[in-house]
Amino acid sequence: MVADFSLLPPVNAILAEQAAKEAEAKFGHSATVDAIRAALADERILIKAGRTPRTSNVLAMMALERLEVDARSTMRAVFNLTGTILHTNFGRAQLPEVAIENAVNAMRNAVSLEYDLESGERGERDDHLRELICELTGAEDATLVNNNAAAVLLVLNTLAGKQGESIISRGELIEIGGAFRMPDIMESAGCKLIEVGTTNRTHLADYEKAINEETALLLKVHTSNYRIEGFSSSVTTKELAALAATKRVPLMEDLGSGTLVNLVAFGLPYEPTVQDVIKAGADIVTFSGDKLLGGVQAGFIIGKQEFVARVNKNPMKRSLRVDKVRLAALEAVLRAYRNEEKRNATIPTLRYLSRNQSDIAHQAADLCAKISDFFQPAYRVEICSCNSQVGSGAMPMETLPSYGISISPVDPAVSLTELAYRLRQLPKPVIGRMHANRLVFDLRCLDDTNGFVNNLEKLS
Ligand SMILES: *Cc1c(COP(=O)(O)O)cnc(C)c1O
Repeated sequence: MVADFSLLPPVNAILAEQAAKEAEAKFGHSATVDAIRAALADERILIKAGRTPRTSNVLAMMALERLEVDARSTMRAVFNLTGTILHTNFGRAQLPEVAIENAVNAMRNAVSLEYDLESGERGERDDHLRELICELTGAEDATLVNNNAAAVLLVLNTLAGKQGESIISRGELIEIGGAFRMPDIMESAGCKLIEVGTTNRTHLADYEKAINEETALLLKVHTSNYRIEGFSSSVTTKELAALAATKRVPLMEDLGSGTLVNLVAFGLPYEPTVQDVIKAGADIVTFSGDKLLGGVQAGFIIGKQEFVARVNKNPMKRSLRVDKVRLAALEAVLRAYRNEEKRNATIPTLRYLSRNQSDIAHQAADLCAKISDFFQPAYRVEICSCNSQVGSGAMPMETLPSYGISISPVDPAVSLTELAYRLRQLPKPVIGRMHANRLVFDLRCLDDTNGFVNNLEKLS
């Protein structure tokens, strides 16, 4: 059979359709013509396969849809139902509304970023955060850089950059992920790495013996992402701070996640808070802005004034600085911390951490009834208990009991890969956790139940 293309409408006829006019208004004439040509090319392939040509109206709508899909951001909002609260692949912390508003204000307007409105003279970008973070942590001074990796690099380079001996326990020479390995970062910063102790046990005397005239700093790294069980011991910040003070060398502590609230309140084991470490006498402390703090990507450098001042004089600091949008967001997050009664509700990271199991169980029961029809009869839809993780390397061993919806194929030979794919193609992609031949939606981080149901309707 010879394909008959004569019934295909010409470009001009399609351009006259309402949908094409809409496309022209939104995306411009030439992009619309290109999209129509592409739709026609696809149509020719289908006609060759024996299909009758579609009308100019339908082809115009196809061209419009093509343009709309193409105009969509590739960074899409997703439903993170993996049960990992701070998922690095999904952008870690979600921001409180107040932070979003403050960030939008900074995006839309000229702002007093480095301008003192009292005197009419130049101000400092750190001023917006310094007082707040010092009030919340008890530190004397503070500054901010691009992320915690940058904070660690900058502090090391400032205090020990000229081959200054930097003493660290062998048990704390960790890899955070990617190429961020403590020994490498110390080398890149220009430090001379002095390892003390053993993998499982390091004592105060080990540090003491290693200190000499060349010692530039003592470094303590919070080993958030792994744990040694059994016969192990490490030296506390308090003990190290006392030693550092006697020997007149600074003590730096990289806290990694760095929480401002005691995690015991959420049913997690105790982790030193930023305040605890400052109180214990660390001279300079670094931590992330988008891990447990619940803000944006940033690295806090806080502690004694003389050391923060030295960091600020390092020429590298300028290349690691934070922009006005992130500063505005973080300022609002820190203000939200001031309200102890409300912060667990207003800051999403704390809200997810503090959600209790029975609240999630109610949500699961409600949701299971509403979404079962979208999956049945091919899949079994059930409420299940599951375990959420904090994420971003923080406490990988500890989980928070949660509830979810489990989807499993009735026919065990059916794989879930295709369903998982279709869920990722939804207007708001849904990402669950695959476990054996089950797909689990952990509901701990699901705020918008109705939006989730409406979105799933498009699955068919
Ligand atoms: C996560 C982490 C870092 C890196 O922090 P980013 O904000 O991701 O750059 C550094 N040190 C420790 C101990 C960490 O846990």
